[in-house]
Amino acid sequence: MESSKNLIADAILPARKAAGVTILHNHLGGSVSLFKLYQMLAREGLSDVPEIHEFARKLYMKEGTGISCLESYLELIHAAETFQYGPDRMAECTRIAVSDTVYKSGTIPSKGHELLGTDLDPYFPVRRLELRVNPFKRTDDGRYDADAIINSIVTSMRQVVLGDRRNFSVGLIICFGRDLSRELNMKLAQKVQEWRKTHGEIILGVDLAGFEGAMSLSEAEDLEFIAECYDIAVGDEGGRTAHCGETEHVDFSTFISTVETLRLTRVGHPLTPVKEFWKNGDDSGLLMMVDKNIVAELCPRSNKLTNAFSTMVEFGEMLDTFDQFGVKYTLSNDSPALQRETLAMEIEVLLEKKAITPEQIEKAFVSADEATFLNS
Ligand SMILES: [Zn+2]
Repeated sequence: MESSKNLIADAILPARKAAGVTILHNHLGGSVSLFKLYQMLAREGLSDVPEIHEFARKLYMKEGTGISCLESYLELIHAAETFQYGPDRMAECTRIAVSDTVYKSGTIPSKGHELLGTDLDPYFPVRRLELRVNPFKRTDDGRYDADAIINSIVTSMRQVVLGDRRNFSVGLIICFGRDLSRELNMKLAQKVQEWRKTHGEIILGVDLAGFEGAMSLSEAEDLEFIAECYDIAVGDEGGRTAHCGETEHVDFSTFISTVETLRLTRVGHPLTPVKEFWKNGDDSGLLMMVDKNIVAELCPRSNKLTNAFSTMVEFGEMLDTFDQFGVKYTLSNDSPALQRETLAMEIEVLLEKKAITPEQIEKAFVSADEATFLNS
């Protein structure tokens, strides 16, 4: 039997291995190794942090251990993020998230790599990385100032890039929250506009995240409000993406109106138009994505954990449907530290299940290079 190492090694083109890849949908909060997070807390000498194994076991995501939908998935991310607040911690968490994602995403950790820190010969290096965060959720309920949080994240990102002789580029996407009050979302929009004036090369654009059931945007008033937030934050200049259509809380017409009204160029986990086509034969959502050149941001393990798909084979069928219509898609891995999987590991699983072909992998890499909000 062919080993998985050969499967992924054979699937990546030599030119791709040389050029590297772009990852554009990873959350900062889910990208911080729990052991490193724990060490950070231990250094502060906190007395109420549980023993390390208990701490890690509670937060690692594993299928069949309580995660059954987007809501429970987000609860776990939120639990990990409750330790990630304030300028000092966010500076360190950013360093960990960026370096771990850049150095490990293209590898399948095995013998000795963890002790070394990474594999010196990855299946593919990471050249561009977009992380996303909602700084208002990192203020410890307003105890810290959001300006200070952003300043420390951005400074930390610059430091890691400089430290590696600019071998890669990193940017930040600011997430509005479906679960946030109007007041806070509007305040965030104004802040993003301000931050982009001084940190425009790092703060690339905006996203909408959080439980879809909290605000599905089926109400015109909600949608118009979020559209206003997007306009204030990035106008016609910055990147526009949104998590939309991962659950049944977003129905087909809401999916279409959200994409159009927010003028999205990318969508996180857009399953709604695929399911509409599978169930009712309505291909208008897929055709709209092609027509407007809207790129799908897919995160296979995350989508499986939230039960957006029942199997990886079904995930593969979605890729085939996208290909049938010519919808562009990308591969990222949402919260690698909590899922305990690098992007290479996720791709390896897809190859093992015959849910992706080498051509589809390369196609996804090309689309990510084209759709990134980073300039270089
Ligand atoms: Zn996400």
